[in-house]
Amino acid sequence: MDPLDLSTASWTDAAAHDGGLAVLPVGSTEQHGPHLPLGTDALTARAVAEAGVEACSAGVCLAPTVPVGIAAEHRQFAGTLWVSPETFRAYVSEVIESLAYQGWEKVIVVNGHGGNLNALAELCGTLTRDERAYALPFTWFDAIEDRSEMGHGGPIETALLRGTHPELVREGRIEKARQGMAERWGEWVAGVNLAVDSAEFTDSGVVGDPGSEATNDGERGEALLAEAAAALAALLEAVAERETGRPARK
Ligand SMILES: [Zn+2]
Repeated sequence: MDPLDLSTASWTDAAAHDGGLAVLPVGSTEQHGPHLPLGTDALTARAVAEAGVEACSAGVCLAPTVPVGIAAEHRQFAGTLWVSPETFRAYVSEVIESLAYQGWEKVIVVNGHGGNLNALAELCGTLTRDERAYALPFTWFDAIEDRSEMGHGGPIETALLRGTHPELVREGRIEKARQGMAERWGEWVAGVNLAVDSAEFTDSGVVGDPGSEATNDGERGEALLAEAAAALAALLEAVAERETGRPARK
């Protein structure tokens, strides 16, 4: 069974699809330093979702990308958009419920933004326990070996976008991105992050060096995409096989 892209399929194409398993990319529209686009998290989620669906033998439905997430922590940087966690949970839940109504009762949310993590875990758990769908979040940068280098607009995202959307990486602004970048996310004391907004600890908006030697390896972006896509494909294969009804009460 071929994959089905809901953004370009007709309703008759959708009707002819076997149903079962869908992938919903979810991103954010927020600052990623002077060198990367505001849409980075939506673009990377989409790229990983497409590559994962392609690498998977099950016929998966690819839903349109949700472009705005939970990102108020970046609001001091121009162009950043966000919705409240309540709105996000309700909206993404209803998108998943409509996929389930259309026959795609298993939904993997492919997430590109750290700020969406808690809400996605919560809403997917609720939908699954209420048997409205079987939904799981997959965050691509948690599935890669180098995840400690994730940062923000840093080595990993810069390398991945060089691989997927090189025309959107402003190479001439990498130096500007490095000036005033933070080494790590937040300001931590006793396991508590004192900074509520990213502008408290990064001037350029960047965390982690986007000009590091490893980032500049021209093949890193492709390798990251392949690694994330293989992880997603393995998850899709496992979920396609899985019996997802809730266990009976003991
Ligand atoms: Zn990002």
